[in-house]
Amino acid sequence: MRTKTFPHGIHPDESKQLTADKPLETMPPPEKVFIPLLQHFGSPAEPLVNKGDEVSLGQKIGEGKTLFSASVHSSVSGKVLAVDHYLHPGGNMVPAVTIANDGADRSLFPEKETKDPISLSPEEIREKVKEAGIVGLGGAAFPTSVKLTPPKDKPIDTIIINGCECEPILTADYRLMLEFPEDILKGAEIICKATGANRLLVGIEDNKRSAFEALRKCAQNTRAEIVLLKTKYPQGAEKNLISALLQREVPRGGLPFDVGVMVQNVGTTKAVWEAVSQGIPLYQRAITVSGPGIKEPKNLLVRLGTSFKEAVDFCGGLKGGSNLLVMGGPMMGLSQWSLEVPVVKATSGILAWDAPSPASEYACISCSRCVGHCPMRLVPTQLMKCVKYENLTLAENWGILDCVECGCCQYVCPSKIPLVHWIRWGKNEVMSLKRKKSA
Ligand code: SF4
Ligand code: SF4
Repeated sequence: MRTKTFPHGIHPDESKQLTADKPLETMPPPEKVFIPLLQHFGSPAEPLVNKGDEVSLGQKIGEGKTLFSASVHSSVSGKVLAVDHYLHPGGNMVPAVTIANDGADRSLFPEKETKDPISLSPEEIREKVKEAGIVGLGGAAFPTSVKLTPPKDKPIDTIIINGCECEPILTADYRLMLEFPEDILKGAEIICKATGANRLLVGIEDNKRSAFEALRKCAQNTRAEIVLLKTKYPQGAEKNLISALLQREVPRGGLPFDVGVMVQNVGTTKAVWEAVSQGIPLYQRAITVSGPGIKEPKNLLVRLGTSFKEAVDFCGGLKGGSNLLVMGGPMMGLSQWSLEVPVVKATSGILAWDAPSPASEYACISCSRCVGHCPMRLVPTQLMKCVKYENLTLAENWGILDCVECGCCQYVCPSKIPLVHWIRWGKNEVMSLKRKKSA
């Protein structure tokens, strides 16, 4: 049987064997957590606590007051040491709450919800998801309650649960699918209820057959269709997943709801179930700590606000010579210059390597390899030149805003041109020009 897939893309070394067979291990909560009030796409949450306050595990400590924001909760019980700024893995200082853990884990979670979750109305579901501070856990960190509210003229007929985890090395989503298939499918049903969708698909790459079998077993006698996809990067990018599973093309500049689809990551789906069925806010997440530079690679359940250093130390520490640290996967992750940053809602992994010196860059030889591998059907070499020579209008006309920054073009470029660097810069410039024009 031919497995489904999308056009173009690449086949990088998967390197998932380091942690694929390691069950999720709950890391003991640290003595101190640093919880940024900005862990999501949008504006920061506004602090609800002051220095010296006592807080409980799961207590809301920051309120997302604008449409594009998300509330933030304490990941331990204890005392607020500071409400100021702290270094975010995104590289900037952001408002944050520092809490000393009292070790008691006093929680505010209700023992159990009185109402059957599936009997909740779409509005009640969205409210519970918003209250729990859930954001997309695949890395985008877009507020889930907003995503669950598509425009009224864009009905959703299909929910796709994204179990691809196509980034090399990462295995936390794989372990979630193996260890919590029932919660994921129940969360997916809740998402169908919230959106009115009647078709439910779960897409899994064929390098995760055990997860496919676990979900398929659980999905018997349900409407969920568990579909095996070809292992190819970036299979998990929303538009590629929709193309592979439904042969629908999201239009240029459009979003999945333009073709009646919503995509949710497996971790997000599990978090939705926990919030709606038990009132549990997002205070911890699954991550992979791995790479050749980590002594004992693991999959962990980590409290948000735990420092990267403590998570890495829990995995035996760094091997001597490790000099490249990344949050997320090796293709799209963010390089880190310090381990003194906290695990946030967008942290899918912490990776370390002993990286070789950067390769020398050569001139473009017009080989078109970047064009042949771009999953968004863009012309990366042209985009790079438009940005380099500051022709942003032309860059926009060539579709720069449709670039998903997957890195395929840069991966295959024989001249080692940092294409994603140029394109990302160009996207920021185009967006800032647009904002100025509309101001
Ligand atoms: S241009 Fe963007 S979408 Fe296309 S391969 Fe490069 S990074 Fe990926
Ligand atoms: S892959 Fe590199 S060298 Fe080849 S066309 Fe693209 S930018 Fe130029």
